[in-house]
Amino acid sequence: MVDNSTNNYRARSRMLDVIRKSAPVTRPALAKETRLTSAAVGLHVASLLDEGLIEEVGYGESIGGRMPVKIDIARKSNCTLGVALHDGELLGNVADFGDHSLFMRRERMRPRDTRQQILDSLDQIVEQALGLIAKHQLRQRHCVVAISGHLDAQTGRIIDSVHFPKLNNFDVREHLLKQFNLQCEAVYVTHAVFCGVLEGDMRNEHVGLISWNTGVGWTQARGENLQFTNANPGVRRISHLKIRPDGGRACHCGRSGCLESELGGLAILQRLAETGEAKYAHLDLPGLAALAQAADPTVVEMLSGCARELGQHLAPAVFLSGAKYLRIETCLGLDHAVLVRNLKQGLAQCMHADQIDALDIAVVPDADAALLKGVCRLARGIFFDGGMIRRLREEM
Ligand SMILES: [Zn+2]
Repeated sequence: MVDNSTNNYRARSRMLDVIRKSAPVTRPALAKETRLTSAAVGLHVASLLDEGLIEEVGYGESIGGRMPVKIDIARKSNCTLGVALHDGELLGNVADFGDHSLFMRRERMRPRDTRQQILDSLDQIVEQALGLIAKHQLRQRHCVVAISGHLDAQTGRIIDSVHFPKLNNFDVREHLLKQFNLQCEAVYVTHAVFCGVLEGDMRNEHVGLISWNTGVGWTQARGENLQFTNANPGVRRISHLKIRPDGGRACHCGRSGCLESELGGLAILQRLAETGEAKYAHLDLPGLAALAQAADPTVVEMLSGCARELGQHLAPAVFLSGAKYLRIETCLGLDHAVLVRNLKQGLAQCMHADQIDALDIAVVPDADAALLKGVCRLARGIFFDGGMIRRLREEM
């Protein structure tokens, strides 16, 4: 039996990390990589097999004697649960450790829904997800709830939600623990989308993500561990960077003229309404996106102008982050090529042409899918590496 002392816990984490990164791997290879004795490796492997966290998946090459058994993370029998509260929607997802989505529910909330109605929908989605997990006898390892708006760094409480103001001061961790005995972590939507788009070569490079929806979000990292390197304080709260020195629109943060309150989707809706044209009087974001896709000249011009300004104000963050990849997640409907072109024009006001040319810039094609994938990846990451959520918090 393996006890729960700190040393054992560390050895076990080290082993899991090696298995996760180098799987399938044999016991002798594990001993070599972790510098643990073969006896210790044997004990930990037995314990992890017992917990269903790893499985034996075949044989490695023999170096004389028996062929060693190869070990991998049990990808199909372990899963994570993810929920996103974003842009007036509740999204629920269950993914196995091989990144396959097994469950997906979406519930559109209306602005007049009460707090209780929102929570009922949340509970219903979680209940359905847990039902599916039980039915397929999966082992649910961790849960992440991604929330747009702001979270209290210490408690994870929603403190400044644009989409779900009725959930302000709501503690999602406490709620899910009480309702379902479910351990969860609350994270920003932007971080979750970010985790969902990290693929292939991007996993080892500096990447910046702009999310341009109701508001404006920015996140950056290197590698899959989301090491935020927001050394510049201006980068940290970039959505509330003051871009209109002499006033500007009131922002939900209590100030005015912020990047978000000037260039976010809600500001664009306001500006369109102010044109006095009847067709812009009662637009919502899906309506705005539909007009943009139908190439409505006023809408396209306004979005293009905002994209340029966005590029201009985000250029220092892009430059300082050393980003090699830049990804944009947006629901505003502007044609991807037009968006990238205008963003580049904005960046060019603060960056050299060769610096912009060196950037790989693209729009995230399916932000919802990226969001859900990211939520589950984060949950898995937290399960394997509890430190990740701490690092995230430190950067908030
Ligand atoms: Zn603000």
